[in-house]
Amino acid sequence: MQVGNIFIGSDYPIRIQTMANTDTNDIDASVDQARRCIEAGTELLRFTTQGIREVESLREIHAQVLTAVPLVADVHFNAEVADAAAQVVEAVRINPGNYSKDPSKLEARFVHLLDICREHETAIRIGVNHGSLSERMMDKYGDTPEGMVESVMEFLRIAVDHEFFDIVISVKASNTRVMVETVRLLVKTMHKEHMAFPLHLGVTEAGEGEDGRIKSAVGIGALLADGIGDTVRVSLSEAPENEIPVAQKLVDYFADEDSIRYDGSVVAEVLDNIGGNAEIRYTSYENEWDTFCLQAAAECGRLLWDYKATELTLVNPNFTESRLNFLSKDILQAARVRIYKTEYISCPGCGRTMFDLQKTVAEVKAATAHLTGLKIAVMGCIVNGPGEMADADYGYVGAGRDRISLYRGKECVLKNIPQEEAVKQLLKLINQQNN
Ligand code: SF4
Repeated sequence: MQVGNIFIGSDYPIRIQTMANTDTNDIDASVDQARRCIEAGTELLRFTTQGIREVESLREIHAQVLTAVPLVADVHFNAEVADAAAQVVEAVRINPGNYSKDPSKLEARFVHLLDICREHETAIRIGVNHGSLSERMMDKYGDTPEGMVESVMEFLRIAVDHEFFDIVISVKASNTRVMVETVRLLVKTMHKEHMAFPLHLGVTEAGEGEDGRIKSAVGIGALLADGIGDTVRVSLSEAPENEIPVAQKLVDYFADEDSIRYDGSVVAEVLDNIGGNAEIRYTSYENEWDTFCLQAAAECGRLLWDYKATELTLVNPNFTESRLNFLSKDILQAARVRIYKTEYISCPGCGRTMFDLQKTVAEVKAATAHLTGLKIAVMGCIVNGPGEMADADYGYVGAGRDRISLYRGKECVLKNIPQEEAVKQLLKLINQQNN
């Protein structure tokens, strides 16, 4: 498929992308950030597009970065906004979970968008996230890989019937196991129905820092090792330009013929010999820590899941045993094989974000670092946050400017409290529950 000046899928290189976290209506900030992302190497750039005002802002941003990279409008709730954005930028992302609430109107609504896209040579990304399925899909399948796959397939069947093929698909989850299982199921389902649309890979709400990178590498790496994936985003709760080198390293690693790849016989032998403890020795030892973390995590997701390993021993003489042990634990936790510490699920932020995400994640982490075994979400907005924080035990969600809502599981227990009280209240909530 073609998106602006690039091709995605087939034998084309795996494309790196990211998403701006500026207010789309702040043109100067958005263009500045776009330039930084382009300089860092992004090949596509997505912007939050809540309404027609944002479409008009995108027109201006597009005019300023026109020849550099294709822009993607990220539309969630309003089909008219998708129609308008499709006339302005190179691609539009829609979320089947909230694209059209009325199933009897879904086909006509989507075909209208296809017609506009055909006329303007605009591509479509169908993006389903764990936690944001339509009520109809939830009733039928629950929040499951099957439900996510069917949400996509329903749209793909319509597109194929109408001979529209410029589509890329994403099915993402914060839980790496769910993400990998869903993408694999989608590939099988498409294959059965003689479809081969390109796939965009990513782990949503992966968090930040080393944990966010390891979690992303575990999920994305498992699929790249399968030979699945045409474009990649590493979603971090950091500046979007920080995502690019991480994604690039993952893509380069799997493009390198000398990278380590485990085949079934080698792994089975390892597991037979040591009883469920996968020991990883690399033939040539990477000596740069950040790169080693990414490569080990990228290799291990597949190894842990497909061969049911429950322990992991990393061997690399360039690093101390204790550092390697911590990394092994972080990888096991990122793959949800074992839980050692509190897991932070935080969104990457976008134009909807209601607070300084990086600062807030750091505050929440500092206040809760002593806890173990919990999943705590920090989500930038109330629109998508509660759904997409998936299986978090507690959620800190932006409800409005300087206003936060706190969640226990899916239940909102404190609504619209001032942000300066929110971390203290979150801790109180956790302590009440656990005492
Ligand atoms: S949860 Fe809200 S603020 Fe965070 S990335 Fe998603 S839409 Fe943006």
